[in-house]
Amino acid sequence: MFRADLHCHTSCSDGTLLPIELISLAKKMGLSGLSITDHDSIDAYETAIPAAKEEALLLGTGVEFSCSHNNISVHILGYDFSLESRSIKEICTMHKARRQVRNRKILKKLERLNLPIPEAELEKIENSKKTVGRPHIAQLMVEKGYVGSIKDAFSLYLGDNKPCYDPGEPFCIQETIDVIHEADGKAFIAHPHLIENGKLLQEVLKMDFDGIECYYAKFSPEKEKRWLKIAKERDWLISGGSDFHGGMKPQIALGSSWVDEYTFYKIFQKYV
Ligand code: AMP
Ligand code: ZN
Ligand code: FE
Ligand code: FE
Repeated sequence: MFRADLHCHTSCSDGTLLPIELISLAKKMGLSGLSITDHDSIDAYETAIPAAKEEALLLGTGVEFSCSHNNISVHILGYDFSLESRSIKEICTMHKARRQVRNRKILKKLERLNLPIPEAELEKIENSKKTVGRPHIAQLMVEKGYVGSIKDAFSLYLGDNKPCYDPGEPFCIQETIDVIHEADGKAFIAHPHLIENGKLLQEVLKMDFDGIECYYAKFSPEKEKRWLKIAKERDWLISGGSDFHGGMKPQIALGSSWVDEYTFYKIFQKYV
């Protein structure tokens, strides 16, 4: 049976597997297709493309961009864009700088609560990864014994609107959609259930998206129905994936959500 997981992360962002390890795992799990959607980075493709060719795994281009709208974070998936696109490369570079400033603001907030993390420790991670964010800070907090788990770090300190949250310099949803379109790609709303604010969700649903993520890690079929209905009403494409992060989110397995062959080829027509 053809199954393609269209949402997963590597060690280029906040996943724990190298791109080539992720490709091997996908093959081992019996997946036929994959899209790697690292946060604000497309660097995984450099090593993932030859590895996928070797394993005869279909690999469609993907990325997950962070946006914020009225201080609430909204994630956007880009698919089937050209990896050579200047606009995509530029937005990734911009996000890296934006995250460096934001991560330091989060450290300042932690310090004020007597939970200090030396900037040098953050810098060490920044030097080895393309995209660094809250999960890496959460990991440092666990190492220092400030919290028992990454999950606790988010629910007590780092989650949206928790005491040490910082949205960073806001980046606009429409601009992100435009960048993806400029790169010949398709823009999807990621994990729409996380947009808990009803008014914001209604605004987002009016934007110029090509699709919406309807199948997601732990959605029940009942939950999926809501998003499938919205896709149908708007004549949007549907996507789905696990949001696999390896050891960073050990409860989520690669392939726990997926799309079929028909859906895969509706999305990926150019750069597989
Ligand atoms: P950032 O990119 O820095 O805004 O961090 C967002 C990432 O943190 C998400 O993509 C998830 O991987 C992770 N994350 C968000 N909420 C939680 C949570 N409650 N527990 C663990 N990881 C989370
Ligand atoms: Zn993540
Ligand atoms: Fe996300
Ligand atoms: Fe994700």
